[in-house]
Amino acid sequence: MNGQHAPQSFDRVLSSMCTEPHPAARTAAERFLATNPGDPATYGTIAELESRAVELLCTVVDHPRSGPDLGYLTSGGTEANLQAVRAARNLAAGGDVNVVAPESAHFSFRKAAAILDVELRTVPLDRDHRADIEAASAAVDENTALVVGVAGSTEYGRVDPIPDLCAIAHETGARMHVDAAWGGFVLPFHDVPWTFADAPIDTMTIDPHKLGRAVVPAGGLVVRDPATLDALAIETPYLETHAQATVTGTRSGAGVAGAVAAMEELWPDGYRETAQRCQRNAEWLAAAFADRGYTVVDPSLPIVAASIPTPIFEELRSAGWKIARTDRGELRIVCMPHVTRDTLRAFLSDLDRIAES
Ligand code: PLP
Repeated sequence: MNGQHAPQSFDRVLSSMCTEPHPAARTAAERFLATNPGDPATYGTIAELESRAVELLCTVVDHPRSGPDLGYLTSGGTEANLQAVRAARNLAAGGDVNVVAPESAHFSFRKAAAILDVELRTVPLDRDHRADIEAASAAVDENTALVVGVAGSTEYGRVDPIPDLCAIAHETGARMHVDAAWGGFVLPFHDVPWTFADAPIDTMTIDPHKLGRAVVPAGGLVVRDPATLDALAIETPYLETHAQATVTGTRSGAGVAGAVAAMEELWPDGYRETAQRCQRNAEWLAAAFADRGYTVVDPSLPIVAASIPTPIFEELRSAGWKIARTDRGELRIVCMPHVTRDTLRAFLSDLDRIAES
């Protein structure tokens, strides 16, 4: 390690969607630093581990089947979302296709639309920041290749009405993608429909490197039907394997090994315990903000948004807190596994001191 740089400390990180990896993930990742799952004929062990990772992801997302042909580990949620759009475009009958997504969809869909030259139609949200079903229904047409639903939105942690969106997509002949990049490892412990068992969704993003506590980079793309991956495949003339569905060629074996280790260690009890602790922290923090008279968006998943005046927000940042704001300007705190009650107490005490001065 470069002696001049201290390793990242998570002590004051309150707005990131990544977290400290589980120790088992860290150890496993280190063992596979110089491996490339993009070349399975050469790096067989890591390729087997990737199959295991996909099977574990299938379990988490309640896939009706489990198999190594049902996805792969991406560089992150951005790549998985891009690939969902790409598959839908490739499988569409042709013409100018469009993608319908709620306004809360992650900006990676804007990147995907730009890269793939498809139209992105964003539809408004209801009063609880979830995709408005009537608006989505009005936005689709015969050129819609994909409808997107978010399961754990980036700003407010909301879960769109996935079965309704799925019905809208399939009625119009489009595919259905669920972006559970962040929410996927807490949602199994919430009573809300979001999985392959809850609706006939076609593709899903779920990232081990967020709430899955794997090392970066480890995103996940899971597909209902292996034909989706075929629609992404490109021939690979100089490798022993014949085709690649991934965006990048060389990929991170460390990310794959870390994801398997984290999921084997934590699914389901460890994730349940973490999800419950993060949720309790979020609810406690939301109540603390409300007690102080700030308007709070109810944390249905462990993200708290509160209307903190800009000068206070700026001073908190100057005090070293890694915080960010929503598009509407609210302070947004993501209660990730590394965020402890003590950290939140220290944060509130700084907030009170700044607000009183
Ligand atoms: N989707 C959602 C819902 C996200 O919250 C994020 C990132 O925060 C992404 C996709 C993009 O993931 P990544 O940064 O791993 O590419």
